[in-house]
Amino acid sequence: MQSEHPQLFSFEFYPPKTEEGAANLQVVHSKLAALNPDFFSVTFGAGGSTRDKTFDTVVDIQTKGIAAAPHLSCVASTKENIRAILQNYRQHGIAKIVALRGDLPSGMMSAGEFRYANELVEFIRLETGDYFDIHVAAYPEVHPQAKDAQEDFKNFKRKVAAGANAAITQYFYNAEAYFYFVDLCEKNGITIPIVPGIMPITQYSQLFRFSEMCGADIPRWMRKRLESFGDDREAIQEFGLELVSNLCQRLLDGGAPGLHFYTMNQSAPTLAILERLQTKA
Ligand code: FAD
Repeated sequence: MQSEHPQLFSFEFYPPKTEEGAANLQVVHSKLAALNPDFFSVTFGAGGSTRDKTFDTVVDIQTKGIAAAPHLSCVASTKENIRAILQNYRQHGIAKIVALRGDLPSGMMSAGEFRYANELVEFIRLETGDYFDIHVAAYPEVHPQAKDAQEDFKNFKRKVAAGANAAITQYFYNAEAYFYFVDLCEKNGITIPIVPGIMPITQYSQLFRFSEMCGADIPRWMRKRLESFGDDREAIQEFGLELVSNLCQRLLDGGAPGLHFYTMNQSAPTLAILERLQTKA
């Protein structure tokens, strides 16, 4: 499997919108930084809606000593915009990037100069050579807008061919989907690390909404269990912790090159999972 790569642990944040959110993120960052992750990544609102906040958050993280990787979505962007963003990151010593298409905000009609993430990866390579370590998104359960699974995989291959160094998956709770995807990559000569994206489970309604939107499958048995806990947050969290820790353990045991946590700007759920993994090790 992918064991020739060192294990990569990374944590994802979104740029805080309020002063309170910014203060919270400082605390969350320092707790997770103590684990010495490979990098922190910071999301980017498609259409550039969080452009400045993503930039400020990334620079703040990088200044504190652990690498920061801004997400960059190209939908509704021009080459000029993207060129300026890349230059700015370079000037600040940011050398990792998560290159995405993004989703057009509703009401925004123009897709801009880039149609798909592979075109963004190509553009980054053209403009900056090998400077950036480029991560792209992967969808073991198939991207929700894909024509079909085979086309989606072909499109993933285009991003790798354009120069991606690694991929982070959409979150999933079916380990088999990940292992199947990794096997497919190997059969197709794709050797970059495919890092599973991990979504801790802390509540119920938001997880379902998110999963509907991004095409992550919540298996029936899991949904039924979560539903049965009603408003009992503690029970949901304990169930989620057990389930997601077991998933992480299975993924690592099966050769996953690391884990990328969608932290939702909270440290406790991710720390609890990692603690359980260590206890079991
Ligand atoms: P693409 O790889 O371009 O794929 C999009 C769709 O188009 C797929 O269905 C694919 O099969 C199809 N496609 C791709 N290339 C071609 C082609 N050449 N011809 C025809 N069809 C093609 N969104 C944000 O807005 N901000 C973020 O910060 C953000 N971070 C994310 C981080 C991760 C790790 C992941 C997994 C997702 C993230 N997203 C983010 C969500 C992401 O932007 C959406 O899933 C979006 O719909 C697809 O982005 P992509 O980069 O995977 O697109």
